[in-house]
Amino acid sequence: MRMGNSKRVLFAAAFCFVGYVYAQEPVWDGNKVELVSEQLADGVFAYYPSNAKELERNGMPVATSGGFVIGEKGVLVIDTMLNKRLHTLVQNMVRKETDKPVIFAVNTSFHGDHSYGNMYLPKETIIIQHAHAKKYIDEHFKEDTEFMIQNFGKGRGIEEIVPTTGDVLVSKGGLITLDLGGKSVEIVDFGFAQTGGDLFVWEPKSKVLWSGNPIITVKPALPWLLDGHLLETLETLKKVYAFLPKEARVVPGHGSVMGREDIQWHIDHLETIKKQVQIAIDEGLSLQQTVARVKMPEFGGYALFGWVHPSLKVPAAYKDLSLAK
Ligand SMILES: [Zn+2]
Repeated sequence: MRMGNSKRVLFAAAFCFVGYVYAQEPVWDGNKVELVSEQLADGVFAYYPSNAKELERNGMPVATSGGFVIGEKGVLVIDTMLNKRLHTLVQNMVRKETDKPVIFAVNTSFHGDHSYGNMYLPKETIIIQHAHAKKYIDEHFKEDTEFMIQNFGKGRGIEEIVPTTGDVLVSKGGLITLDLGGKSVEIVDFGFAQTGGDLFVWEPKSKVLWSGNPIITVKPALPWLLDGHLLETLETLKKVYAFLPKEARVVPGHGSVMGREDIQWHIDHLETIKKQVQIAIDEGLSLQQTVARVKMPEFGGYALFGWVHPSLKVPAAYKDLSLAK
């Protein structure tokens, strides 16, 4: 499912809102973000922006996070970043730890900040993507890059990007296991979580999960629901939570390493919207009246709340729950 024009306008408006906060700067600057890596277990690393911990605590947007896993045969890179500069920083972090080849790379979604760097991978690297992500890029690459330039700025390396899609595709509800040599990693579609082409990466030995954008980062950040589908997203996040052992660690799409319990905030948030919108529907309120009533200021600590809540999430819940009737 592609992002409709109206959603793109709204998405752009979100960045304008944040841009306003930052005096018209892009939400984060692909020419300036610095990355740090954190070792989570033998051969298992997260990477995230060096300012992630400070920003996420204050509910401000953070640039893209990912990771890499090193096995005896080679390396898996999780998410390839927005541009050549950021992708090179990732490759450099890998090189600091090993000289083994990058044999696999996976994109947690088609979003450019998670996949544009594919073109800078070595030729022999096998790229793994969701079938839906490949379809989206095949059909909408030009408008996608225009949209990303609009929101992340000109001269951030997006102009150079050539579409580079997956060699191995994961289908709806699918799971594939990669053998890195002495380490196996699972690539899982838990269900609709953000784009309909969302992949989670699970390293069972160290109990580390990479989530991509469906889990942005810790409280007070919240899911955006750019493509709607509140009920499905809620079910998927509950499934992910139930799948994870208590001691699991989660590398989110835009923040530093968090725990399983941190996902509960996101589930509680969506449950609260669902409950309150259902009451409004049962009372016969219109969408407009529902948006006016379901304000939920207790979740207002996130920079984008004032915009995504009334514009995307309450309408998504209203639509889903009205259809479910
Ligand atoms: Zn992202």
